This record gives sequence, structure tokens and C-alpha cells, in this order.
Amino acid sequence: MADVLLTADRTLMSNYHSNEFLGFGTCAPPNFIPEWFYSFLFFPPIKANKGIPSAAPYGLRKTEAQLLKEGFDVITVSPDHIEEHINEAKVVGIHTMDPFGLGPASSTLAAIFKKEPYLAKYFHILMNNPAIKKAKKRGLKVIVGGPGAWQFLYRQKFVEEHAIDCIVEGEAENVIGKIFRAALDGADIPKYYEVSLRETPALEEIPDIVHPSINGLVEIGRGCCRGCEFCNVTLRPLRWYPHEKIQREINLNVNSRKVSGCCLHAEDVMLYGSKNTSPNEEKLTRLHEFVVKKHEGGISWSHCSLAAVASNPKLFSKIAEIILQKQAWWGAEIGIETGSSELAKKIMPAKAHPFKAEDWPQVVRTGMGIMHDNKLVPACTLIVGLPEEKEDHIIKTMELVDDLKHVRSFIVPLFFVPLGRLKREDWFKRTEMNDLHKQLLFQCVEHDFHWVDNLLDLSFKGKWYGRFLREVYKGFAGIAKRKVRQIE
Ligand code: SF4
Repeated sequence: MADVLLTADRTLMSNYHSNEFLGFGTCAPPNFIPEWFYSFLFFPPIKANKGIPSAAPYGLRKTEAQLLKEGFDVITVSPDHIEEHINEAKVVGIHTMDPFGLGPASSTLAAIFKKEPYLAKYFHILMNNPAIKKAKKRGLKVIVGGPGAWQFLYRQKFVEEHAIDCIVEGEAENVIGKIFRAALDGADIPKYYEVSLRETPALEEIPDIVHPSINGLVEIGRGCCRGCEFCNVTLRPLRWYPHEKIQREINLNVNSRKVSGCCLHAEDVMLYGSKNTSPNEEKLTRLHEFVVKKHEGGISWSHCSLAAVASNPKLFSKIAEIILQKQAWWGAEIGIETGSSELAKKIMPAKAHPFKAEDWPQVVRTGMGIMHDNKLVPACTLIVGLPEEKEDHIIKTMELVDDLKHVRSFIVPLFFVPLGRLKREDWFKRTEMNDLHKQLLFQCVEHDFHWVDNLLDLSFKGKWYGRFLREVYKGFAGIAKRKVRQIE
């Protein structure tokens, strides 16, 4: 029995059938598929032994590693097994990603379908766990953190009702030790702790994870140099992990035999090790050669930029060749945001760098074409309802989406959420959608339906259970397609 328990809700404690793309399914609200079957399809629970999950979200593993390094008695438990471990615990640390469904993807779907998304539903289930409630009565402290921590500022009533003791926002390696220590000692802890820039950890202060991360996700760097106005990440300094550090975490995941595959995580994997917006060929190649040599389970990227791909197509093809030795495709999340060069210049002037901001739509076409040719399947985001958006900007975005119809990809329009330097702006709401917004939404849905079968064929190719699961997902996509067409 440990003093400190760490956990996360069911939608985060899943390996999404070893396909991070499927994790997007947690952003949807309950729908025409029975919940038990939907959760099986999109967020099956991670395997656990006596309540200890075989893998956990990477951010939670970093917290665990930091607390272990500082000598805490800590274990990570599955949300379905908390009651078996909570009796002796004095503090519970909860990792969050999008606890109230206020993130761009979930808030857009919630606004359209007027229902709470699954990820918010399961966070509520965790917070209402009777074992936690009972332990609170004897003095258990609850501390929450993770990328979703900012959302608690919008849900003060929830914080009070659930007696959350502390919310930690930001890169917390340098502060969580003292907060957890104070909680264990019964000392005062702040209700809300925003990690300052001064407290942001340097590379050498970030510990290696000590237990496997879901889908073998490993961070290769933090921060981003492009400075988009609407983004939180850019407020933190850019740091790339040395190759040896990444290698250690990959080895840990591989040697555990509990995860297959590897997801390289950074805001722009193409820029690994680079000091500017031009990729570093030697570092990027070395990293990928190492990962492919180590892994049988396939590689994915969390994010990459179209500009970096378009700036060096030869290098991108070389990296693709390395990755495709063992797999048919790989995925990454890509920010297109707008098809308007005027708007791009205003809100994300460096997103196209080393190209000019006004060339943004062309950078997108070029980058997407290169990805298509090299079998990277991007999940692209657009932002709908940016503060300075005009009708002409939406039309430009629709023209761009039209130009991309031959590119194997998903394109998802998301309502503007005030973050980063735009955090004082208003949220974009469903009621503010004009006809052009609606047309853009349906245009993207049609684009995605066009490509979904192709992607399912690629995803399940060569897997023994492939035919069955592929048909199930195709059936789901078919029903969704019919429903959307009815709405259209
Ligand atoms: S490129 Fe992406 S991560 Fe970087 S500042 Fe822009 S939106 Fe944020």
C-alpha cells in the first residue's frame, strides 16, 4: 500500500487498440452505438494486474518518475481498481487531458450534438468514485494536473463540490515534489498552482519514465518556436531531448514487453534537434533508424508541421523510407487552421517559416501532397470562429479543403477555444455558426468519409483480427455517414 496513488480516467487509461487515432473517439458524446460497445471500439481498458496498469499515459509516468526520484512511496493504479489501493493512501494525483470536454475537438462535438463527450463523462465517473469520496472524509488529498488543468478555472463550482485540494498547471517536475510533500504532511497547499516560466524544468531536470507508457509514447522535445497566437505550447521554451535520453525511454518500453509500437511526441517531430525551422537531417535520421531497429510494432508521430515537410521533401522521403520498412503507413496530427493567407499572417506568422506567411495555403498543398506520396496520414485541424475571421477567410479555407480532396487525410474543423495569447477572447459557440461555417463542416465530414474506408484497409492489413475489426469500424462509419447525410 502506497502513500501516493496516481491515476487517470478510463478514456486515458486505454491503448486504443494500439492506434492513437482511435483515441479521438473519446471526444465524441454517447451516440447510436451502445456505450459498452463504443468503449470497446474506441477506448478499451488497459490490461491491469492487481489494479496496476500495464502502461499509463506518458504525462502520468513523468509525474510518477519525479515523485519516485524524490523518494515518495507512489504507485499508479487503474481507475477501475482504486478501492483496492486507497485505504492507506494519503494523496491521490489525477492526470487530466480534457476533463470537462472544453478542448477544441470535444467542445465542437458537444456543441453540435448538445451532449457531454465521453472523456468528460468518464472524468466525472472517476471523481465521483465512492472510494475516493469515502477517503476524502478521513483526510485524503486530491491533486489534479496534466494538459487539461486549465479547464478547472472554468469549473470552480466543480472544484468546490469535489473538494479538489490543488490543481497544478504547467510543466511540473520542479514543483510537484514540494506540493505532494506538503499534502502528505497536512500543510497548506495552494488551490491553484500555475508553474512559472522560471520553474519550467531544464532538460537535465526532466526524469526518464520508469514504467511503460501507453503505445510506447516517448517525448523527444518540449515547446515550439512558431509562436501561434492561439496556442499554449508556444509560451514555453523549446528544448530537444538528447538522443541518449530518448533511447533510454524507448528501451524501457521495449524491454517491458507490455507495449508494442512507439509514438514519437513533440510539437514538430520533423524539427527534432533543430535550432530553427529547418530540419536537422543527421539527428532526425539517427533517431528514426534507432526506433525502427528497436520496434516491431510500428511508429507514429504525435505532431509535425507542413512547413518543415515542404521545406525538405527529400529528407521527408528518406525518413518515410526508414519508417515504411516495417509498416504500411503512419499518422500524425497536423495544424492547417486556415486557408486564408491574410488570417495566417495575423495569427500564426511563423507557421509557414521558412516560407512566407502569405504563402501558407501553398505550403499546405505542397506539404499534404508530399505526405500523401509517402504514406503519412495526417489528422488535420482547422479553426472555426477565430476572433478576426471574416467570410472571405472561410471561403479561402473551403477552397483549400477542396484542393486537398485527393490527399489521404482526415480534416477536422474545431471551434475556436481561447488559449495562448488569445486566452482573453470569447469562445466560439454553435449559435454563431453561419451558413459558410456549416458548409465547411459538411465539406470536411464528406472528405473524411471518402478516406475512412481506405485508411481502415491500410490499418488492418496483415493483422489476424484485421478483417473482423475492419468490418466493424466500416459498419460504424457507414451508419455515421447516413446520420450526417440526414442532418445535411
Ligand atoms: S506550430 Fe503548433 S505547437 Fe507550434 S505554436 Fe503553432 S499551434 Fe502551437
